[in-house]
Amino acid sequence: MGAVENKNIQISMAILLVLRMLQLFFYFNRLQMQDVLNLPQKEIYMILKRIQLMLFVLVMPLLAAKAQVKIDYELSFTEPQAHYVDVQMNIAGLSKSYVDVKMPVWAPGSYLVREFSKNVEGFTAKAGNKQLKAEKLKKNTWRIYNGTEKSVQINYNVYAFEVSVRTAFIDASHAFLSPTGIFMYPDNQLALGSTVKVIPFKGWNKVSTALEPVAGKQFTYTARNFDILFDSPIEVGNQDVFEFMAAGVKHEVAMYGGGKYDPARLKVDMAKIVEQATAIYGENPNQHYTFIVHNFARGGGGLEHLNSTVLGASRDGYATEEGYKDFLSLVAHEYHHLWNVKRLRPVALGPFDYENENYTTNLWIAEGFTAYYENKFMLRGGFESPEEFAGKLLFAVSGVINTPGAKVQSAAEASFDAWIKYYRPNENSNNTSVSYYSKGEVVGLLLDLEISQATKGAKSLDDVMKAMYLQCKSTGKGYTDAEFKAMAEKISGISLSDFWIKYVNGVYPIEYAKYFDYAGINVKDGNAGTNIPYLGIALRGPEGHLSITAVSRNSAAWVDGLNVGDEVISIGGEPVIDKLPELQGKKVGDVVVVKIKRDAIDQEIKVTLKANPNVSLVPSMDASISAEQRQVLKKWMGI
Ligand SMILES: [Zn+2]
Repeated sequence: MGAVENKNIQISMAILLVLRMLQLFFYFNRLQMQDVLNLPQKEIYMILKRIQLMLFVLVMPLLAAKAQVKIDYELSFTEPQAHYVDVQMNIAGLSKSYVDVKMPVWAPGSYLVREFSKNVEGFTAKAGNKQLKAEKLKKNTWRIYNGTEKSVQINYNVYAFEVSVRTAFIDASHAFLSPTGIFMYPDNQLALGSTVKVIPFKGWNKVSTALEPVAGKQFTYTARNFDILFDSPIEVGNQDVFEFMAAGVKHEVAMYGGGKYDPARLKVDMAKIVEQATAIYGENPNQHYTFIVHNFARGGGGLEHLNSTVLGASRDGYATEEGYKDFLSLVAHEYHHLWNVKRLRPVALGPFDYENENYTTNLWIAEGFTAYYENKFMLRGGFESPEEFAGKLLFAVSGVINTPGAKVQSAAEASFDAWIKYYRPNENSNNTSVSYYSKGEVVGLLLDLEISQATKGAKSLDDVMKAMYLQCKSTGKGYTDAEFKAMAEKISGISLSDFWIKYVNGVYPIEYAKYFDYAGINVKDGNAGTNIPYLGIALRGPEGHLSITAVSRNSAAWVDGLNVGDEVISIGGEPVIDKLPELQGKKVGDVVVVKIKRDAIDQEIKVTLKANPNVSLVPSMDASISAEQRQVLKKWMGI
């Protein structure tokens, strides 16, 4: 069914609704209507009734036709060692002579057009044994001419060999099926449900997914609509699976790749994270939840889904205290997303447009606040001390202050341009942009303290998050920036216009000392007054051939013209072999000669050293903490 027909149905349904309301209105207001229209009430009522009946006759067949369209998929693996999955898509109940199918161009949660259709090959369509004509209309769209046939069978293969949490990967040992890169959908039919049958490769015996299993049918699942299908990755292979209960929800952990983890310990600690996150929102909206964990020699990253997540981890990481806590932080981050971004979501992020960029200015909330809450959950779960908590947050604050791009790009702009900046960094990114993760984490920290300070420790950012979650749940819609601000103002009881101007839409210097003081914590810059000479370049490359990879805005290198790509031979007479020389004996204002090779030509560039502008923030408890500060501290850290 095409867009026009869908629109017609929607318009007709709206007219029916209006007619029904008018009928009821006339029915209960007979006298007034007679006065106004000077017509007998009964006549109007009958006319409306007739129009309504006619519309029903016209619309119902369309609705019935729509309801009959049925989609199912079968996934099998003929050549997993060569990284292919064989996809069969069956569409039944077609009412037109052609059908368009599309593949998403991006995966929600990862804001980059990835062109998943680039991995598709061997597209064919048939009806029974009859081959059907099919042609490609766009980069991600195929048209199948089914004529009078009501059902079509589409077959295609997908090449999957990119290791990441948002792209599919298949080899002889397993298949990770990231759904936006595997499943096509019929144009304009995202509301349709579908069935997915997985036929594991010989020797594989498990399927892990958050999709609903079909009773009595092995490895067969249903999705109520395409938003759910596209939000439910599938792991197929021989993964190790363990389960735990937390917040009344069954959680399954599917571990691919082995690793030095202790399931018993993980069950206890992951449950603590789940409980801490659920405590903020007062409810856990899932019946079950699936963690798909990919353990590699060196792995990382995560991608959130509606009731599952995919995590990258390092096999040996679990064995060290630091690595173990890093993993728990990742669990905390991705798990929190089941509320923040999946349900408590910016208005632009769902229902999704799978063919284009979906723009929002609120990733600083969706990602930044999630990064901030990672720290809160680690503190509240007892995995980190209040000192470690403060230290991590100040590390984030320092990171933003030390990013020249934070003076150029606001949190809202960073969110909007994620598609072309954050996900497409270049050598100048640090000078021109700020991460909405880091800046958002800092904004979350400041807003949390602002709310606690304003309410004398009675409220916090937790209350805003819960209220906004409930609001999104009741309206069924995502929030606008204005709605989020309004809720934060309602809960804090103060105007946050100045806060929004400074930290959300502006690039105002972060008033870290003021905010930490709310909780009785002194913050000093350990670098203050040091006046350390600094070039402002980063180097990388094979030993003896290091080249500049970044030049920091307004640094000595920036001012005097060192370029990214220059191979650095020596600085101030000191040869550059494997790292940047210490500039020992040099001071701010000294001129050093930097010998470089640019485009294979030797050059000497005189550089006047400037002071290192970076801060290094160090916290200490205020010895004379007041009762008001104590209230904020208690609300914030629980101490
Ligand atoms: Zn995230």
